[in-house]
Amino acid sequence: MSAPILYIVVPCYNEEEVLPVTSGMFRDKLRQLTEAGKIAEESRVLFVNDGSRDRTWEIITELSRQDEHFQGLAQSRNRGHQNAVLCGLMEAMNRCDITISIDCDGQDDMNAMDEMVDAYLGGCDIVYGVRSSRETDTFMKRATAQGFYKLLNAMGAEVVYNHADYRLMSARALREFAKFKEVNLYLRGLVPLVGFKSTCVYYERHERLAGESHYPLAKMLGLAFNGITSLSVKPIRLITGFGLIISVLSLIGILWALIAHFTGTAVAGWASTACIVCFIGGMQALFLGVIGEYIGKIYLEVKARPRYIVSDRTEGMQEEADSPAPADRV
Ligand code: UDP
Ligand code: MG
Repeated sequence: MSAPILYIVVPCYNEEEVLPVTSGMFRDKLRQLTEAGKIAEESRVLFVNDGSRDRTWEIITELSRQDEHFQGLAQSRNRGHQNAVLCGLMEAMNRCDITISIDCDGQDDMNAMDEMVDAYLGGCDIVYGVRSSRETDTFMKRATAQGFYKLLNAMGAEVVYNHADYRLMSARALREFAKFKEVNLYLRGLVPLVGFKSTCVYYERHERLAGESHYPLAKMLGLAFNGITSLSVKPIRLITGFGLIISVLSLIGILWALIAHFTGTAVAGWASTACIVCFIGGMQALFLGVIGEYIGKIYLEVKARPRYIVSDRTEGMQEEADSPAPADRV
């Protein structure tokens, strides 16, 4: 078997500060893997510009002009990290044998790629990069992230603990993954559903080399909620359970009230009535909100809008031949 072609897929959003530093590191890694005979010379670093407002795309095009091992795709606007990764993976799928997705800020240890490729050569189609410790994260980030995985698993979404989006996927796994058409993307919850032989590789997570995180607490909570509601219907089941319990309690309450009424012991119980009304009212609003969230998801899925739109490509990433331009089709 000849050495596989690897595409390192790197989403970038306003990363002009960090890109000049990490691009060289990605290139070195590619060179080192090629020299070790593990990957083919045609391997590439594929940057996906996620509608950055700074000079990120200029940097990417400049890099690709200097060295064909750098390639880039530009999304037509900012679509978020998950869609940017998907865009890169889908575009890389038919040009390579393996992809590794990784953030461009240097937080994830690139040396774990050696082990990932080894695992692929050993027969795995998916290799998850898992953080062995979170010492460099702030306390807040660590606590929220940890709570996040626990919540996800408790809610029935199967995710690999402490794994973000640093992972190797073979082209074969990606072609199957491409059949998952949902627009509410939560990659780390979806990839395990593809199946195939998989394994984990452990690495230390560093601090960002430059620039700032784009995942503040509110966005993290949003991602967690999206993860749960796009992967599991457990919250709705819980609501049904709650509803059942409240119904039984209400029945007991009604009986109690009737007995009190007919035995003449009923007193003007304003406080208890007010409490019950408030409680039930609050619960109902909350439950409707959760159900509404699912309806919102259905709404978005039904519309089936494109999950990514490429506006610009570097030389080596031109449209694939199997999708001819409209002018050629006539
Ligand atoms: N990113 C992106 N689109 C966005 C936000 C982030 O493509 O809308 C990219 C970003 O450039 C980085 C990766 O996603 O490569 C992870 O973002 P970040 O490092 O800010 O998140 P954190 O590591 O702090 O969770
Ligand atoms: Mg980061």
